Amino acid sequence: MSATGTIVIVGAGQAGVQAAEALRAGGFTGEIMLLGDEPHGPYHRPPLSKAWLAGDIDAAQLVMRAPELLAKKGIVLRTDVKVASIDRKTQEVVLADGSRLPYSGLVLATGATPRRLPIPGADAPGVLALRTRDDASAIAEHFQLCAAKQLPIVVIGGGFIGLEVAATARKKGLPVTVLEAAPRLLGRVLAPMLCDWYAQLHRSHGVTLQLDARIEAIELDAQGHACAVRMADGRRVPAGLVVMGVGVSANDELARAAGLACDRGIVVDACGRTEDPLIVAAGDCTARRLADGTLLRLESVQNATEQGKSASAALLGQARPFTATPWFWSDQYDKKLQMAGLSAGADAWVLRGPMEGPSFSVCHYRAGKLIAVDSVNSPKDHLQARKLLDAGVSPTPAQAANLAFNLTSLLTSP
Ligand SMILES: Cc1cc2nc3c(=O)[nH]c(=O)nc-3n(C[C@H](O)[C@H](O)[C@H](O)COP(=O)(O)OP(=O)(O)OC[C@H]3O[C@@H](n4cnc5c(N)ncnc54)[C@H](O)[C@@H]3O)c2cc1C
Repeated sequence: MSATGTIVIVGAGQAGVQAAEALRAGGFTGEIMLLGDEPHGPYHRPPLSKAWLAGDIDAAQLVMRAPELLAKKGIVLRTDVKVASIDRKTQEVVLADGSRLPYSGLVLATGATPRRLPIPGADAPGVLALRTRDDASAIAEHFQLCAAKQLPIVVIGGGFIGLEVAATARKKGLPVTVLEAAPRLLGRVLAPMLCDWYAQLHRSHGVTLQLDARIEAIELDAQGHACAVRMADGRRVPAGLVVMGVGVSANDELARAAGLACDRGIVVDACGRTEDPLIVAAGDCTARRLADGTLLRLESVQNATEQGKSASAALLGQARPFTATPWFWSDQYDKKLQMAGLSAGADAWVLRGPMEGPSFSVCHYRAGKLIAVDSVNSPKDHLQARKLLDAGVSPTPAQAANLAFNLTSLLTSP
């Protein structure tokens, strides 16, 4: 790939913007077209369920990169432009209006779409999901309507986004019920003791929490607006607003239709490469092939940022594998959770600090080795954990549990 030509980036989110800027920083002097199908320029998604939904920040604080700043770097941003297909033979993307744009390199950074439960009423007015700025604005409007009419909010799904929405709704004084199908909140990602701690946190803030929830349908009022969630046992949970937080699907349709390998996401290697040397992919739309052959799907700012950089480097002919320890955060009430590493397969957990205290961490071990650390209000533990995990250094469980033990001292030991 030469340093000139036209690189088209599909998706003007976290990964797309990073890819565009990394191309310039990496010496690409050709044209960069950043295409996004939303009406807004690039903005930060994490505040959508937190400070933005709470009304604590304004639109300017949501902006990730001002269009003028991108223009200064010679990055052409086009909003409200949907790419409909990729023509790999002619090396062109086809836009929804039928026009074509040639590319010498293509970055797919199309993100993900919230899933909807396949139940009656799931698409009715008053049933909202949260992915975009416009989704968040619609939820905020419903919060106001519900507050005025004293109507409750029902959140379906006790994952991070659902729980952040629940916490924000409580902050606004709204009655909230969370319905989670699994026996625990966040059960796939957190240690059992931390799942239970989160359940208690939400209950202590007045959330009605139902685990093992079997949902049958969304009931509609005479105007066709959602008014309740009907459970399999016949109970009705009244709702002025239903927020569906049941996960996302990767936006891999363009890649799939173009014949690229997809498996719950666009399959890429650690450098963001697909099997077409002219096409790379980054962010929530990808599934990364690991060294052991398994696929890893991550939905996080860090992943989108790092893959965006790696994908750009790949188009410039450089290998920049993204293999660093994954990290993620979630803010609920006054608790900041910071997660480092991947906890799947953990068989033992060690507490660092008391869970009743102001801050603590849960260390995940697999076969005696530290694989992940989840820290609550403890940025120091989080940063130390990332260093240890990056270096592949494992404290003993006794060292991890001892608050007086400086974990990073292990990094300097011979
Ligand atoms: C409410 C919320 C809270 C979150 N909180 C956190 C958090 O606390 N911590 C954390 O690490 N992560 C968080 N995340 C996840 C994080 O925001 C995402 O992982 C990250 O934004 C992914 O970036 P991306 O560029 O892959 O996708 P996106 O940011 O979704 O960008 C993709 C863009 O591509 C556009 N697009 C798709 N198809 C086309 C097409 N055919 N043509 C043109 N444009 C197209 C989409 O509309 C979108 O604008 C949160 C996400 C949400 C929604």
